Amino acid sequence: MKFPAEPFRIKVVEPITTTTRKQRDKLIEKAGYNIFLLPAESIFIDLLTDSGTSAMSDEQWAGMMLGDESYAGSKNYYHFEETIKNIFGFEHIIPTHQGRVAENLLFSTILKKGDVVPNNIHFDTTRANVEYHKAIALDCVIDEGLDPDSEHPFKGNIDIKKVEEVIKKYGVQNIPLIMITITNNSGGGQPVSMANIREVSTLAKSYNIPLIFDACRFAENCFFIKEREEGYADKSVLEIAKELFSLGDGCTMSAKKDGLVNIGGFLAINDQQLAQKITNMLILIEGFSTYGGLAGRDLEAISRGLKEVLNEDYLLFRINQTRFLGESMIENNIPIVRPIGGHAVYIDAKRMLPHIPQSQFPGQALVVELYREAGIRAVEIGSLMFAHEDEQSGKINYPKLELVRLAIPRRVYTNMHMQYVSEALNQINKKKASIKGLKILYQAQFLRHFTAKLAPVD
Ligand SMILES: *Cc1c(COP(=O)(O)O)cnc(C)c1O
Repeated sequence: MKFPAEPFRIKVVEPITTTTRKQRDKLIEKAGYNIFLLPAESIFIDLLTDSGTSAMSDEQWAGMMLGDESYAGSKNYYHFEETIKNIFGFEHIIPTHQGRVAENLLFSTILKKGDVVPNNIHFDTTRANVEYHKAIALDCVIDEGLDPDSEHPFKGNIDIKKVEEVIKKYGVQNIPLIMITITNNSGGGQPVSMANIREVSTLAKSYNIPLIFDACRFAENCFFIKEREEGYADKSVLEIAKELFSLGDGCTMSAKKDGLVNIGGFLAINDQQLAQKITNMLILIEGFSTYGGLAGRDLEAISRGLKEVLNEDYLLFRINQTRFLGESMIENNIPIVRPIGGHAVYIDAKRMLPHIPQSQFPGQALVVELYREAGIRAVEIGSLMFAHEDEQSGKINYPKLELVRLAIPRRVYTNMHMQYVSEALNQINKKKASIKGLKILYQAQFLRHFTAKLAPVD
């Protein structure tokens, strides 16, 4: 069956508030037309992010009651370690409270000024953590990965030639690691193929450079491999994950994604000396090595979540729910980025609202309209987030794409909710000519999209 029903039934419900258009008009005006400044309680369907927004299972909640809050040697840490070793296969397992701390620990231990880190596309926090150490974060995704119309099945793949050029240009001694982000979040949640990972691994080994995965959505990536890559249809997702991680030397992970929990992360590596250094640093900034900024109960929930995320009924539902939303949008002639990725659908706002120039934030205008029309929260990934003044010419550089991301929390919304989102977009599409652009009234110097205040242009 193409669109299987939710492979779970609902035991606990969390009511969501409905509001009227009039109330939402007031709320969004008060929030300066910025959805980050809205009270979450005024939102009907929240597609701001898939990070930390998952629903935990009865098994996970039961595990929370088995939390062993001993300062050192909690039994939950041993469960956590055993689960991660079994799936990821790495030697040393270091718990952290978020993915970015795993990045921080890794980079502050191995990066020096002027070093270069190739990746398919660095996620924001990864890039920021690399650049914080005065190193260079280089994106080496294949060209298809940057083309919203390309139907390449593995748009997250790394361009091996680009990485080879980087190694030649900067010198092996200045490249302390190569990273691969699975799935490629900043490139639309697109997967990386096993063949590509194997090629990168061979290249990295030939230069003795460690290969580290940013593994936030590893299960979704492995499911795409099973679905799309020759030779994997009959393997289990767990087998695929084991094969994939055997090609690398470690990983960073935010458990807020494929860990199916609301907080947590870890770093896993094979190198014993590196693990020792990182553990010492962990104790300084996060906590002792058997809890790393988490409660024992959190470790238990992650350990159970990592097993559940590999359930193939779940993954089939998960990937198809995202696809279901995307395909119903295609049917209604809403322009989206293709193929549909694992955790989100991206609307091409420039194409949908061609009457709004980039200087008036077409993506944000659509985000605002989605909230006003239907109480849905999406996020702009376009000019509000990325446009910046050129230091020399004073001209404003606009990003190539004006996207609106609808990220889908795991196991939280039903397919009927998705249908509601699709219907809302359909309504908006019919009267899109009346949507107005926005202007900025206030902006911060950095990361302005979080706090900017806007108003509709007259
Ligand atoms: C979310 C994310 C991170 C950072 O994880 P946090 O838990 O938010 O700190 C790093 N890389 C990718 C690809 C992510 O999606």
